Amino acid sequence: MREELLKNPVFSMAVAQFDRVADFLALDGEIRERCKWPKRIITVTVPIRRDDGTTEVFFGHRVQHHLTRGPVKGGLRYHPDVDVGEVAALAMWMNWKCALLDLPFGGGKGGICCKPMEMSQGELERMTRRFTMEMIPFIGPEIDVMAPDMGTNEQTMAWITDTYSTHSGHLVPSIVTGKPLTLQGSEGRTRATGHGVAFLAAAALRKIGIDTGDATAIIQGFGNVGIFAALTLSSYGVRVTGISDVSGAIWNPEGIDVKALHAYTSKHKVLEGFPGAEPIDPAEMILRPCDILAPCAVGGVITGANAALLKCRILAEGANGPTTPEADLILEERDDIFLIPDVLCNAGGVTVSYFEWVQNLQRFQWTEREVISKLETKLQHAFDKVIGFAKHRKLPHRMAAQAIAITTVAGAKTSRGLFP
Ligand code: NAD
Repeated sequence: MREELLKNPVFSMAVAQFDRVADFLALDGEIRERCKWPKRIITVTVPIRRDDGTTEVFFGHRVQHHLTRGPVKGGLRYHPDVDVGEVAALAMWMNWKCALLDLPFGGGKGGICCKPMEMSQGELERMTRRFTMEMIPFIGPEIDVMAPDMGTNEQTMAWITDTYSTHSGHLVPSIVTGKPLTLQGSEGRTRATGHGVAFLAAAALRKIGIDTGDATAIIQGFGNVGIFAALTLSSYGVRVTGISDVSGAIWNPEGIDVKALHAYTSKHKVLEGFPGAEPIDPAEMILRPCDILAPCAVGGVITGANAALLKCRILAEGANGPTTPEADLILEERDDIFLIPDVLCNAGGVTVSYFEWVQNLQRFQWTEREVISKLETKLQHAFDKVIGFAKHRKLPHRMAAQAIAITTVAGAKTSRGLFP
């Protein structure tokens, strides 16, 4: 299994990052191995009746990286590229994110290899419910709490809640997070990740002595993360001069009216044709001068080919894994870019997921203001820890964030000891 996992390039990248930090921490052999490998790798087959009456079998995976600090937490994705190695890598990264934010969770991730865009709602519902039934022995509010990810949404979470609750004989809202508000989802969850990206970018601006009123930002991606990052940044007075999505990129040196763009994309789905800005080449957009560059779309966009050409002061990683390892080495050589690494920068989502779980367990609901205020407190604390540690130990920010997280996990494992 070890070799099988390491054949996956994403998993071997996660392991390479881990090994580098573990070397720095001089983590000893036993704890190092226990921190590195996932505790449980579960694969199930999910047979469903298609709308045309035929039966199809899908493969679903769930990787629970470790349960040392609490239940595992992480998304469930529906995508044709889902494979167990990538899921294991994403579970490991979730692990470090939860530990860095001091959330009482281990990392998990799951996925079903399928083409959700080509499936009807009925087929998606049957697949989700059957997958939930197959997973019943391995999930629970104290074991594994899933959340939406690529190809899944709050409706998926509602079906999981209903299936699990029907099986239990009573409503169990704490089985998943990212639920609709009607099923005890949390206020503030929708905007949590993007708001967190903007909040941390503003914290970085303060660190390097730039006033938000004088700052500019470029945002790649205008989905859940990009929209709320742009809305919060513009509410702080930051001029958002460039925004892109899958249809192209737009530019306005005076600042794009983000609310108007949000209304436009709500109607037209993509930003192409928005009248309040000029179209530009998306690859060129991310190279233009700005104070904040926030990649909030897909992974691997800051590469060995463009990292040296970036002209931003702050790189705020809203997406997961937007910077390749080659680009990372270039950024580490440059001392003019303040990196907010993904495990910190986009942790707003999992933090409010944690708040949703806490509210569900307590049968209590907080207001959006309470949620956002608690979120900002947690993010600021994590930001200060990462920046302080990086400065003290002369480390790049990404390595500092992972070092704090790995130390936290290793500490919990050491305290619990090795059973038996
Ligand atoms: P989303 O599907 O809502 O939006 C993605 C956006 O990216 C869309 O606007 C799409 O048009 C755009 N896009 C796709 N390919 C692009 C490209 N090549 N260039 C420019 N834009 C492109 O997704 P999301 O929820 O906003 O997630 C975005 C990223 O943030 C992902 O990496 C995700 O893993 C990460 N993330 C999301 C959350 C969350 O709470 N949603 C939490 C943590 C991390």
